[in-house]
Amino acid sequence: MGLTLADLEGCVEELYSLAKLEPDEVLFPSSLAEHLFGEGCIQRVPGMIGNASLGRAGARRYIGVRSSFTGARFEHLVGHELGHFVLNLREYRGDDTESACDFVGAAIMTRRRPFARSARGRERDFAQLAADWETTETMVALRVGEVLGLPIAVITPELVRARGPIDWPEEGILRELARTGGPGLARVQLTDDRRRVALVGDEVDAA
Ligand SMILES: [Zn+2]
Repeated sequence: MGLTLADLEGCVEELYSLAKLEPDEVLFPSSLAEHLFGEGCIQRVPGMIGNASLGRAGARRYIGVRSSFTGARFEHLVGHELGHFVLNLREYRGDDTESACDFVGAAIMTRRRPFARSARGRERDFAQLAADWETTETMVALRVGEVLGLPIAVITPELVRARGPIDWPEEGILRELARTGGPGLARVQLTDDRRRVALVGDEVDAA
């Protein structure tokens, strides 16, 4: 049994609530980490083996990140370690731990409730949402699927990811649909890379 989407969103909310932040506040992971563990808790380590790690020295927790990482990648690595922190608190040890931490790392910056409010009414405007939320169109497209429960798939040369309350077909068929579109599926070209396409399904009544 792996973690559900609701479990994962719960992990993100738990981090914000442990940091005693307001329900609508959204922070970068590095800033959330400082709220949780104190200023200076992130150590940039030159030549570190591995990308990042969560540690403790006495009562004090810290996150080490290899010093070559900056910007969005740095933030995502810090967020990933916060995922480990919250899953450790829950004593969760499933096989999906690493992917769960990746989810938490990304979802900290697109916190469910504020993101949902921002995305509602412009569900397909991935370029503007990406600009507003300082992330990629791929990320916001999938996040719209998650938080609004819309069927959305993103197809790029490297990956196929699908979200929402329908049974998506297998990868080969999705790649074909990304070229042709299909009944009830709008084809939305992502603008950050011409080879990336989102398929947006009609809203499904979750009966
Ligand atoms: Zn990890």
